[in-house]
Amino acid sequence: MTMSAMVSNDEALIADPAAGPDLRGSWYEIDLGAIRHNYRELRDTLPATVKIYACLKRNAYGCGADTVARALAEEGADGFAVASLLDAMAIRRCGVQSPILLYPGAPIKAAAVIDALGLTVSISSLDELDLWRRALPTIRVFLKVDLGFFRAGATPRQAGSLMAAVSAAAGVHVEGLYAHISELPTSTPADVIRQFNRMQTILSAATSEGNRPPLVMMSSTEGVLNHPEMDLDAVDPGALFVGLTEGRSPVRRLTLRPALKAIVTHLVAVKRIDPSLGPLPSGLGFREDMMLGVVGFGWGDGFPREVPSGASALVGGLRVPILRPAHLEHLRLDLTRVPDARVGDPVILLGRQGDEEIPLAEVASLWNTDAVGLYASLRDHVPRLYL
Ligand SMILES: *Cc1c(COP(=O)(O)O)cnc(C)c1O
Repeated sequence: MTMSAMVSNDEALIADPAAGPDLRGSWYEIDLGAIRHNYRELRDTLPATVKIYACLKRNAYGCGADTVARALAEEGADGFAVASLLDAMAIRRCGVQSPILLYPGAPIKAAAVIDALGLTVSISSLDELDLWRRALPTIRVFLKVDLGFFRAGATPRQAGSLMAAVSAAAGVHVEGLYAHISELPTSTPADVIRQFNRMQTILSAATSEGNRPPLVMMSSTEGVLNHPEMDLDAVDPGALFVGLTEGRSPVRRLTLRPALKAIVTHLVAVKRIDPSLGPLPSGLGFREDMMLGVVGFGWGDGFPREVPSGASALVGGLRVPILRPAHLEHLRLDLTRVPDARVGDPVILLGRQGDEEIPLAEVASLWNTDAVGLYASLRDHVPRLYL
């Protein structure tokens, strides 16, 4: 067989994204049904007039912006919001036609792509308005206001002149206005109310000037769960869709399900340690005659670079210790408890195997983060298997 014939025979296999988990041997299991369920829980709790712009930033919290967007578009999501233009492009590439809001930061150099894909940019100042108008004859915009988060957005004082400028500008299609209520380490619950009051002041001035944007939104996960009064015209939660709440007992009691069901890898090597390897390295958990396993997943795949003490994996339905140190694409296991383990056997770093489970909360805590941090540490190069 010639080389080119081999290549063309393998093309279908190489091009099939669903083959990724098998080809790599490590994958994340993402429960798309849970994401759909979380969307429905939110839809059922919101008044029918309130639109849902699903925030799918950071590649939908590691769960795959394209696939998640397609599922949520089928469920009836009104639009999407992302920070990275690359996430927006992935969503368009898989055929989703819904409005996509780009949070602040889209590069002006990307104007042609933004225009071709019908994306909406965020504008926080007259300067930004000017830059985008010079780059494109027509633009879709959401105005962004900062109500006290000290991040992007026009200040409440600047908001009026920005609204007046965009409504007078030719070629500028104003789709909406939004703010992000997020908490600084110094914030108190009263700050949320103060920020909402600032929004109401901005809106009543805009209404009397006749330039209130058609879609006003300010609630992310924390807002939709705890502040129904802030629903306004639309909401843009993100973490909620992968099943995360802030933990406190919320005003709206949604039953959310986690999207990440498992982190799966497999044994790429199994052997019994013998004296021909030389003296046992001390302090790393090696013992004479020990069964050693190696898995194809390392700190380059999101595992902590320092193996946390107490970290374990599931092999053959039993917990086994993960040994120090971690490598870029490999980890060692002490297989003493599972002497029958064979190369190729599945290994669970998060999730269930037989009667044993390593829950998401345990992994988040071992990895020295919280659930949002765990989702944010999912790597885009690790294939996702959708359940
Ligand atoms: C992250 C983000 C959201 C969504 O926040 P969650 O806490 O994940 O719901 C909404 N709006 C903006 C501007 C954001 O940056």
